[in-house]
Amino acid sequence: MDASDSSGTPAPLSTQTRLVTAGRDTAAQKGFVNPPVVHGSTVLYPTAADLHAHRGEYSYGRHGTPTTKALQQALIALEGPQCAGVGITPSGVSAISTALLAVVKAGDHVLVCDNAYRPTRLFCDQMLNRLGVETSYFDPLIGAGIASHLRPNTVAVVVEAPGSQSFEMPDIPAIAAVAKQHGALVIDDNTWATPLYHRSLEQGVDISIQAATKYIGGHSDIMFGTVSANAAAWPKVSEAIRLLGVCAGPDDVFLALRGLRTLEVRLARHYQAGLDMARWLTARPEVQRVLHPGLDTDPGHAIWKRDFTGASGLFSIVLQPAPQAAVDALLDTVSLFGMGYSWGGFESLVIPFDCASYRTATQWNPGGPALRLHIGLESTDDLKADLERGFAAFNAAR
Ligand SMILES: *Cc1c(COP(=O)(O)O)cnc(C)c1O
Repeated sequence: MDASDSSGTPAPLSTQTRLVTAGRDTAAQKGFVNPPVVHGSTVLYPTAADLHAHRGEYSYGRHGTPTTKALQQALIALEGPQCAGVGITPSGVSAISTALLAVVKAGDHVLVCDNAYRPTRLFCDQMLNRLGVETSYFDPLIGAGIASHLRPNTVAVVVEAPGSQSFEMPDIPAIAAVAKQHGALVIDDNTWATPLYHRSLEQGVDISIQAATKYIGGHSDIMFGTVSANAAAWPKVSEAIRLLGVCAGPDDVFLALRGLRTLEVRLARHYQAGLDMARWLTARPEVQRVLHPGLDTDPGHAIWKRDFTGASGLFSIVLQPAPQAAVDALLDTVSLFGMGYSWGGFESLVIPFDCASYRTATQWNPGGPALRLHIGLESTDDLKADLERGFAAFNAAR
């Protein structure tokens, strides 16, 4: 079939196809499908004239290699036409800190949604505070009401959708429209949905970061971050990356690229299995509430449906009131759900959480113990049977 319109211009490739094709340079790779893992610092110049002119595709390992270039091209293709560049960083947290340091100076103010990833708060409250930058927090459900929180010196608004652990859904386009009018940049932590299911940069976001440790890597075997920026923000981001000396090791860059190639199939499966498990959990008597914006009973469902094309495998549940010993009995009984931090790999995880102690703009008072679940690639029948055993132990200890 001919993928051209009547003018002869080829139709733009789908994201699914771009994930597979972008960043591949078969000739440069001597025919191999994948780029080499370039371990390199020094790049040699053939002549003195080339050296003086800094001529050459590469200049120094920290500034890029054929491996980082392939990954960046694939990530730019994934983000779409709004993306002016993607920086790569050694972790998700370093993607957040790099993005913030790129846009602030002493005397500035930043606004952060109250359900942001906790280390984001710690970076703002400790490091930015020390540098003379003030942070204040807002209710993630504020929407256009963000206007009343913007100050003359507000330079950035940080959002995360849905929020870490508690999964409230901010209205990013509404927040971004107000921020833009004010001249503040919008930074989105897009780790949960990835650009595949949430087109941040098309919804008014200027800088979209991802903990690529999660779904981009996809196998719980790397620490990695990415910072994607539009044309307005990319000069600041690329300057910060250069000045801070941020780069990532070549093996992790390669594994991030390898993960990216299969992101679409993995995420489709996490999406479907996660929603299946979430629906099943809503019917369990031990569960008070399921916090998953893909459920049509969720308060964030309308925004999710409007702004997202899918969901990942991460969501939370609130159990019926029970002593800690009952929750621990559940945790110690399940075996397919591992207990551990992070998520986005092929395996299922469960972790208890409580955001009450560090929220400042909103209250976290769910009325029972809360667990965050990551639904991996196991059979959902097996996962349900595992949780059923866990719930039996929970009930016995209540
Ligand atoms: C894990 C995570 C991060 C941090 O990523 P690391 O690679 O662990 O530094 C940032 N944001 C969100 C939403 C995360 O879940």
